[in-house]
Amino acid sequence: MLSTMQDEQLSLATLLRYAATVHAESTVSTWTGDAVRTQTYAEIGQDAARLANALRKMGIGYGDRVATFMWNNNEHMIVYAAVPAMGAVLHALNIRLFPEQLVFVANHAEDQVVIVDATLLPLFSQYLPRLTTVRHVIIVDGDASALTAPEGVQVHSYTELLDAEADTFDFPVVDERAAAGMCYTSGTTGDPKGVVYSHRSNWLHASQVCASNGMGFTDADTVLAIVPLFHANAWGIPYAAMMSGANLLMPERFLQPEPLLEMMAAVRPSFAAAVPTIWGGVLARLAEQPQDISHLRTCVVGGAAVPPSMMRAFEEHHGVKLLHAWGMTETSPLGSVAHAPAASTGERAWTYRYTQGQFPAGVQARLIGDDGDVAPNDGKSMGELEVRGPWITGSYYSPTGDVPDADKFHDGWLRTGDVGTISADGYLTLVDRSKDVIKSGGEWISSVDLENAVIAHSAVAEAAVIGIADPKWDERPLVAVVLAEGATAHPEELREFLTAQFAKWQLPEYWTFIAEVPKTSVGKFDKKRLRAQHAQGELNVIELT
Ligand code: ADP
Repeated sequence: MLSTMQDEQLSLATLLRYAATVHAESTVSTWTGDAVRTQTYAEIGQDAARLANALRKMGIGYGDRVATFMWNNNEHMIVYAAVPAMGAVLHALNIRLFPEQLVFVANHAEDQVVIVDATLLPLFSQYLPRLTTVRHVIIVDGDASALTAPEGVQVHSYTELLDAEADTFDFPVVDERAAAGMCYTSGTTGDPKGVVYSHRSNWLHASQVCASNGMGFTDADTVLAIVPLFHANAWGIPYAAMMSGANLLMPERFLQPEPLLEMMAAVRPSFAAAVPTIWGGVLARLAEQPQDISHLRTCVVGGAAVPPSMMRAFEEHHGVKLLHAWGMTETSPLGSVAHAPAASTGERAWTYRYTQGQFPAGVQARLIGDDGDVAPNDGKSMGELEVRGPWITGSYYSPTGDVPDADKFHDGWLRTGDVGTISADGYLTLVDRSKDVIKSGGEWISSVDLENAVIAHSAVAEAAVIGIADPKWDERPLVAVVLAEGATAHPEELREFLTAQFAKWQLPEYWTFIAEVPKTSVGKFDKKRLRAQHAQGELNVIELT
């Protein structure tokens, strides 16, 4: 029996129309260094129409890729709104990718137009001659003569383009399964892989971000989107904001702790989203220069494991709740969120909040143990996490129709490469990435557990742990420590600090002190680089007996 329901498409054009009318007065603001420039959603809708008209005149149609090379700002949000709504495909390029990778992903995605912030032109102009499919470059906040383009590429000024266009556009009803946007993984553990989101997946994902067991956006919120719009589908923030009417605050290029805190003091956002390294920097800055940040009701933090000591410090010293979430580019990215059950309070609630969280109804999850069987959700049995659902990718993008990285999928499930446990009440605790876990004498040592424990020491600002080859045990942990400003600590003392939490055989004997942990293009610990530094003998390793 079929339902009687209307078969309306979950198209992002509908979402744009909704935001521009129902939430017409909500705002998107960009920090300029000492103030904000602001537009309402009604104005964002008008600019999105102007941009769509301009892109259509350039010949951009269904399925064509329009890329961005931009900071988080109003114009980037306008592109997010306009491009999928007109039936084209948004591809936000990661401005911090290594040159080879950047050129690879833009050519692989066959980007036809790139919209670039003028402040990023010096960087972008180095790549442009190698971008084989790009026909148009649109410069935001700068004039077209600022760029010498290769033959066959036209350069436009964003402002002049939009000024010449009407502020209405007949956005089509797009098949909800059609491509809306694409994003490449940041390549933390390998080459970037392309994921293509649909209108339907982005719509359903936005509903989950807005849900109270997601991030719970409302029109009373002002969301500081520190996570770059090019990282993992911007964590779903743009479309969730349009759906809920949440106001957005865009930090532009002001991403260091000091300017972030200045903009917080000026705008007093209620919500913020960033990876743990950003929050670590903010915390250190607050220790030097105290500031009231209790206007933040919640900061969502994910992309890498959050040290419990960081969560406690934010809550106990600053009255701010860090909400731990897990996800991947491949999962749109919201995969799980660590809200404690309503009935748990005090220390019990913390034990839930430290985990990677519960899966929402739209995400199914299972663990595959070493034996290849599904492991029970008993909070003890470990396995590789596999997920499936309407906003989880079922394959990687291939322009040629072949099936890249087929081994990342398993009977219709996405293999995440993350290893952990799931409790009977559905909370995921990740032990490690399978590539990062340290295999010592046939047993596993979690690099994340060691990092979380070491960073809780007051002399430590950052700690990253990698496995290094060992003739007897196969691998042993090497702890790379960044000391806090002005602090000193001996490895003996740091190892001693760990004894209460770890078995003797897990305690690391190899330590090194470094000035900074190398970071990936999205601010995660770059363990590939740390391993290379070790292999090249660049780390001064101290061995404890
Ligand atoms: P990349 O794989 O290139 O880093 P992503 O940003 O998509 O690109 O990374 C997804 C991965 O980040 C996950 O598979 C997981 O290993 C890690 N991750 C994300 N959130 C968390 C978290 N809360 N705790 C631990 N690891 C996380």
